[in-house]
Amino acid sequence: MESNLYSQGTKVFTIDHNFLGIQGAIASYLIPHTDGVILIESGPGSTIAALTTEIETCGYSINDVTDVLLTHIHLDHAGSAGWLAQQGAHIHVHHIGAPHLLDPRKLLASAERIYGDKMDELWGEFLSVPEDKLSILQDGDIVDVNMLRFQVLDTPGHANHHHAYLFEDICFSGDIGAIRMHGLRHIRLPMPPPEFNLELWKESLGKLQTEFDKGTFRRIAPTHFGIFSDPEWHLNAISEALDKIGEWMETVMPGEPSFDELNQEFLTWTRERSLADGLEQKTLDIYEAANPSWMSSYGIQRYWQKFRKKD
Ligand SMILES: [Zn+2]
Repeated sequence: MESNLYSQGTKVFTIDHNFLGIQGAIASYLIPHTDGVILIESGPGSTIAALTTEIETCGYSINDVTDVLLTHIHLDHAGSAGWLAQQGAHIHVHHIGAPHLLDPRKLLASAERIYGDKMDELWGEFLSVPEDKLSILQDGDIVDVNMLRFQVLDTPGHANHHHAYLFEDICFSGDIGAIRMHGLRHIRLPMPPPEFNLELWKESLGKLQTEFDKGTFRRIAPTHFGIFSDPEWHLNAISEALDKIGEWMETVMPGEPSFDELNQEFLTWTRERSLADGLEQKTLDIYEAANPSWMSSYGIQRYWQKFRKKD
């Protein structure tokens, strides 16, 4: 894993939000240009202080942030976008996510159903983004910031409002690029409700694979966490993980387990896979903190009921 590197002549800094005091869980990527800096992901509203300090460590200030490219609008990726817009930054987002940044009430209500009274502590304040600070992106668009070009790839499967960005030799893969932490060769799929969709994820992964095969990128940077220079292994591991969860669902879900039963089975299965990959308990806890299994259990349940259940 590389923390700060020169891409094709451009320096890319990895910013650690130190989410809940955990290192290496949620990243933003900072890219300087001739008139300021670009951020990939704003990070949560609860980690603005860490973001500010980290940007200063890189030699810049919050006021230098001209553009924020969001992979999607989940709170760990886009939570402080509104605040950054207030500081003057321009926010770029998927067209399906855009209405929720302009008016976050629905997004926050559904997050509250999941997180309850932990909302504030986990995610802080989520401010709306004013219309004149918002750029709405479509598949295939190019975001050009002072000659730095980012190609937009529509990549649903984790969420319908998800983009990956291709920049120089890096693919910023958000959550469609799964979760891989501490430089390990261990992949986890974040499968949250309400939009996790196995088939769409496979299609999106196919798009990334095609770009990689064309030589478009040589590094992959998931938001959780870091820039990896073995995209071939990484993409294969996601493909394998998608197949495995598909098989797991086929064995478990037709038995119509209650949520608690499903969750317990999924936890056990996840733990066994992690131990087989050689993970230590400590690392397992960090993966669990960045991507709680119960969240994926809800996503799996919802996906199965909506798309796969035979009446
Ligand atoms: Zn997400």
